[in-house]
Amino acid sequence: MQPEDGNQAPYRLLIFTCYGGCATGVAASRACIRIWEENPDNVKIGCLPAVPIAWKRNEIMKMSQKRILIDACGVQCGAKLAEKEGLPLDRYMELTSMLGIRKTKQLPSRALEDQVYRAIKREVHGLLGEKLTEAEAEPSGNGTKGQDFPQMELRPLGVVRNRIKEPSLVAEAGDLEWRGKIAKARQERNAISELVIDNDLAAILDGIEDFSHLLVLYWAHRIPPEGRSLIKAHPIGRKDFPLVGIFATRSPARPNPICMTIVSLLERKGNVLKVKGLDAVDGSPILDIKPYNPNYDAADEVRLADWMTQIHREPAEGSFSPT
Ligand code: SF4
Repeated sequence: MQPEDGNQAPYRLLIFTCYGGCATGVAASRACIRIWEENPDNVKIGCLPAVPIAWKRNEIMKMSQKRILIDACGVQCGAKLAEKEGLPLDRYMELTSMLGIRKTKQLPSRALEDQVYRAIKREVHGLLGEKLTEAEAEPSGNGTKGQDFPQMELRPLGVVRNRIKEPSLVAEAGDLEWRGKIAKARQERNAISELVIDNDLAAILDGIEDFSHLLVLYWAHRIPPEGRSLIKAHPIGRKDFPLVGIFATRSPARPNPICMTIVSLLERKGNVLKVKGLDAVDGSPILDIKPYNPNYDAADEVRLADWMTQIHREPAEGSFSPT
């Protein structure tokens, strides 16, 4: 039996999406509802379970000028169904690969919701042939509105290769959590890593052999979007330490997860540097390498927060307690 929705006016875009079950799914459904509310005449939300029903599929094709399908994770349920049922699409998005994150069975953070909303909105505006306003294109409320920043673009110049597969410090439930063992973290810090620079850029390393130590800047690629929205945290997740701003910590979970380590250079072979002392996880993108120069990089009369002094003192005393 066909329900009585045949008197609907045609619309320009139909959005199919996952509706929940994981952080990106919930974020996608909220984003799509918001976009529908913003464009009630042009945009509608489609019902994926209706696609295998022939007369519904025909109606979808008749009523919608364009169609976009959003899968929230790499299982790609929607794409498989659309392909099986022969549903033509004008755009397809798979959120976890697109955003470079892993699927998590939890509600999305505000930062992830914003990220998903902006990503979908960009595609929707492209399909509708409309331009985004400045506020829609950029994250809101950063206090630097109106500032004329040049376009900032980072590109990885190589990759870290080592045996550190999991980060010891993770961003979890709005704070940091230390998951490693201090002895293991120390071992890892002394482990050998290879910095594999893109072959085409090998000459960028020429002359580096003359230095014993380097500053390596890398991107902490395992930090999830939630970790990038932390403003304050307890250092290494310890609640007995004060809650401090992220810029007062060395946590990799920060708005721009750029990390820096001083390493000793053991060897250069072509486009590969063998170094000791890097705390990056295997696969971390390398952003920059500079020679370490104590004339620039070391300071006199250094003052540290008490909690940071304690972090370094406790392992030496054998009393380190991560939580
Ligand atoms: S693609 Fe499939 S498994 Fe992944 S969130 Fe959507 S419905 Fe769930």
